[in-house]
Order: sequence, then structure tokens, then C-alpha cells
Amino acid sequence: MNFELDSEQQAVQKMVRDFVAKEITPKAKEWDLEERFPMDVWKKLGDLGVIGTAIPEDYEGSGMDFHSHAIVAEELGYGCSSMRGSYSVNISLVAKTILKWGTEEQKQKYVPPIALGESFGCYGLTEPDSGSNAAGMTSSAEKDGDYYILNGNKMWITHANTCDVSIIFAKTDKEKGAKGITAFLVDKGTPGLTPQPLHEKIGLRAQDTGEINMDGVRVHKEQMLGPEGKGFAVAMSALDNARYTVSAGCVGTAQAAYDIAKDYAKGRIQFGKPIGGHQLVQGLLANMIMDIEMGRMMVWRAGFLKNKDVPNTRETCMAKYFCGEMVNRVCYNAMQVLGGYSFSGEYPLERMYRDSRINTLYEGTSQIQQLIIGNNELGISAFV
Ligand SMILES: Cc1cc2nc3c(=O)[nH]c(=O)nc-3n(C[C@H](O)[C@H](O)[C@H](O)COP(=O)(O)OP(=O)(O)OC[C@H]3O[C@@H](n4cnc5c(N)ncnc54)[C@H](O)[C@@H]3O)c2cc1C
Repeated sequence: MNFELDSEQQAVQKMVRDFVAKEITPKAKEWDLEERFPMDVWKKLGDLGVIGTAIPEDYEGSGMDFHSHAIVAEELGYGCSSMRGSYSVNISLVAKTILKWGTEEQKQKYVPPIALGESFGCYGLTEPDSGSNAAGMTSSAEKDGDYYILNGNKMWITHANTCDVSIIFAKTDKEKGAKGITAFLVDKGTPGLTPQPLHEKIGLRAQDTGEINMDGVRVHKEQMLGPEGKGFAVAMSALDNARYTVSAGCVGTAQAAYDIAKDYAKGRIQFGKPIGGHQLVQGLLANMIMDIEMGRMMVWRAGFLKNKDVPNTRETCMAKYFCGEMVNRVCYNAMQVLGGYSFSGEYPLERMYRDSRINTLYEGTSQIQQLIIGNNELGISAFV
């Protein structure tokens, strides 16, 4: 067993850490307040070659591994969860899914611009009436010669309004439940595809989230992603990757919250000494750093399995469940350390606290992770 990063991974970590400290952390508050995603900064990340860290070089990535991908996610999560979220969606939900299921033509068309930071993708699974129960979707794709006609609504879709391509899941056979779902690649501007932004979110305010209405969207059969009826498998394989990225991002945000709390504990004087000298504050710090270290190890273990290309849904869901809850706990404890000052915009903790809330909700709620882990332990096939 080796817990050390290799020299290439150390170099990526340093490069992204420096970039985050200079270009992301100082601006994250402004983007949150303005509900604006900084495309110019995203493009600079693309120029550094770290958006496509785990994308093969043939598709304009850096050809590194899942571990390096997690390192980038952790560093982005340290500075701005909205930015880390866009990394999750573009790379884990979209580019990696096209690489796994797409034709060579689809891979060549869609993956390089995403890896270079020049293009955004979205993943349209959730609907107003189907979230956890994705197989209960009602969006339909009716065959019409060489085309499919898509109708329905998608809800809570990250990058709905800013993406160039959407992976849309719809039912080609309503009688077959999960086995009747098919995935399609739908280009921006396709007639009948109408996104709408969603505002007033508690967190991830710099990130575009929206609804997508599909009214007679005509898509050629060559835009199918994976075989007809395999959409549910496409969707779940994407979530396996995205849950991993989310977990790593949680570790980064938790580390940022901890670093703020630790610094504050050294400087804030109460009862004649720094609050870090009071043992109950030390207890908070100890719990926080243990939580973070456990989360990081769980992410690295899932990455280790992903690099070996062996089944890892169990370990990935464990990491997602633990890290999603963990980052909320750590931000809560960090706020305890800062006391009343944590409640203001003077420190970025309040944004971290708000942004962290999503991590027990999306990519499958904590309860859904529990179900997947429990079903796995019992050898039960979940949700199909
Ligand atoms: C900011 C944001 C971004 C998002 N981005 C995307 C995206 O890019 N693409 C996309 O497709 N979706 C996206 N989502 C949707 C997200 O994945 C769903 O919200 C999530 O899967 C939960 O679905 P739901 O909201 O419909 O909740 P529901 O499924 O209605 O769940 C409500 C509650 O019931 C519980 N529950 C449901 N079923 C069970 C069960 N069988 N056993 C025990 N408990 C259960 C849940 O755990 C939860 O506590 C996003 C959501 C948000 C808020």
C-alpha cells in the first residue's frame, strides 16, 4: 500500500492549488453574489490541461488517472463548489459517459472541446416527478423513421442553459420501465428544446441550474448514446463517476472550512487565551480533521479501484455518502469555532456551508446511497 502521490500527481496538485489560490478563492464570493459562472477562468483551467486530467490524450485530455482527477476535484472544491460542480458535470457525467458509450464519431465531436474547457455539457435525467426513482421518468422518445421525437420535461439540470450538448434520457418503450430508457445527445439550439434558469438556490449560486422543456425535439438515430433500451445503464455508469468527483470535492471544501477554523482558533482570544487553547475547541478541530482524513482515504480507495477498472459502485457510494454528510458536519463545526463571525459574509464559511448542503441531495441522496450499499451487501439488484 502506498499513500504517497507520485511526482506527476504532486505537480498537478501544486499547479491547481496555486491556480485556485490566485484565480478562484479571491473571486468566489463575487460569483456567488452575482450568480455568475466565470467562463474566462474556466477556459484558463482548460489551458492548464487540468479539466481533462483523466481524459485520454487522443481526445485532448492529459491521459492521467482517476486519482489525479480526484486531486483536481479536491482543489477546486477548496476554492469554489460551483466550479467543482461544473468539473463533475462536464467530465464525469458527460465526457466520460460519451467515452464509455459513444461511437468514435460522437467521441471525436464532443469530448475534445469539453476537455479543453471550450464547451459545456449537461446530463438530463431528473424530472419534476422523478428524482430518486429515475426509472419513473415520463419523457418519451418516439421513433419516426431515422429520427426520434422527444417530449417531456427535465428538472434541476446543471448547465441546462449554458451547455452545447445535453445527454437526455427518455423512454423509447414505456412498458419496459428502466429497460425502456434510451440516452440521446441533443445539440444546443435543436428546435423544441427550451431551457429555463432556476434562481434563488440556497447554494451553488454561481452555477447554472435549470429546467429543460422538450416539445417535439427531432433527433437523428445517430445521436443515440449507447444502444436503444440501455439508457438506464448509461445513466448509472455516469453517476458512478460523478459521485466520485463529488466526494473528492467535499473533501476539498471541508479542508478549506477546517483551515479557516484552525487559523481563527489560533488568533481569537477569549478568557485570556486563544480559543484553540480551550479543549472543547480542540475537540471540534480534532473531529473535523479526522472526518476529512477519513473522507480522503475513502475517495482514494474508490479511485484505486476505478484505476484498476474493477467494480467500484459499493466503494464509490460509500465515499459519496460519507463525504456528502462529512462536509456538512465539518462546515457546521467550523462555524462553531468562528462563533458569530461565521454568520456573516466576512468569512467564506457561510458560502461553504450553503454550498455543501447539495452534497447529501444530488447524484442520489444520502438515503439512496444507503440503499445501494445495503442492496449490494445483500446481493439485491437495486432500482431495476
Ligand atoms: C442544484 C442541483 C443540481 C442538480 N443537477 C442535476 C443534473 O445535472 N442532472 C440531473 O439529472 N439531476 C440533477 N439534480 C437533481 C438531483 O439529482 C435530484 O434532486 C435528486 O436525485 C433527488 O431527487 P428529488 O429531488 O426528486 O427527491 P425525491 O426523489 O423526491 O426524494 C425526496 C426524499 O425521499 C427520499 N426517498 C426517495 N425514494 C426513497 C426510497 N426508495 N427509500 C428511502 N428514501 C427515499 C429521498 O432520499 C429524499 O430524502 C440536481 C439537483 C439540484 C438541487
